[in-house]
Amino acid sequence: MNKITTLSLSSMAILFLATSTASYAENVKTHTSLHKAHWGYQGDVGPSHWSAINEKFSMCGKGKMQTPINIIATEDKDLTPLALSYTTASNDVINNGHTVQVNIKSGSTLTIDNNIYELKQFHFHTPSENNINGTSYPLEAHFVHATKEGNLAVVAVMFKEGKSNPIIEKIWNKFPLEENKAVSIELSSADIQAIMPSDKDYYKFMGSLTTPPCSENVKWNVYKTQMSISKNQVQKFYDIFGHANNRPLQDTHKRTIVE
Ligand SMILES: [Zn+2]
Repeated sequence: MNKITTLSLSSMAILFLATSTASYAENVKTHTSLHKAHWGYQGDVGPSHWSAINEKFSMCGKGKMQTPINIIATEDKDLTPLALSYTTASNDVINNGHTVQVNIKSGSTLTIDNNIYELKQFHFHTPSENNINGTSYPLEAHFVHATKEGNLAVVAVMFKEGKSNPIIEKIWNKFPLEENKAVSIELSSADIQAIMPSDKDYYKFMGSLTTPPCSENVKWNVYKTQMSISKNQVQKFYDIFGHANNRPLQDTHKRTIVE
């Protein structure tokens, strides 16, 4: 009886040790990845965990006007073309650990309802974050604009597989592999405009940032026409991170989507 008790006690001790060792290792792993990435696209820092990672990210979980969405127009208003005035060149390109971002010299603007939004940067997601009528695309570019007060407007461009894209090639050639180290890149304002389609039809809706803190009240404008990118170019972008960097589709909550 005594022997059995001793045996089972020592088994319990071993079990306990094993369990506590495992959970400690798990804790260290979680802690390290939180410190390293804060948030990401995979595992315990992936999109379904964003709102729990930091209280400042709560909108990622409770927001009702989140992006991306599956875009299906709800109203046809014959929208006037976007009032873009891109006059400045790029400054540098940076790998921020989540995407590759081209920063723009100040002076390029998008005007909406007499409010001036300045183009700050553009960056990429693979595959596309938004879908159009249920279709996902291999790549999506986001041109991020902000007013002086900090209100945001995004212009999105979808890319479909086809011919190699010469402007994308220029950017990809400068990919910084090291995180947060800016590399100088020279794209003219004409190069930047050439990333956008010549057919200016677009969808318009209210949404959010697609990355934490998922802030809302962002004006989204998504071009209907896709630009071309080669399979190799998409793969090259994917290989920088080794995983997709798109947030899953969010509920539209019956939002108005104008075309
Ligand atoms: Zn984005």
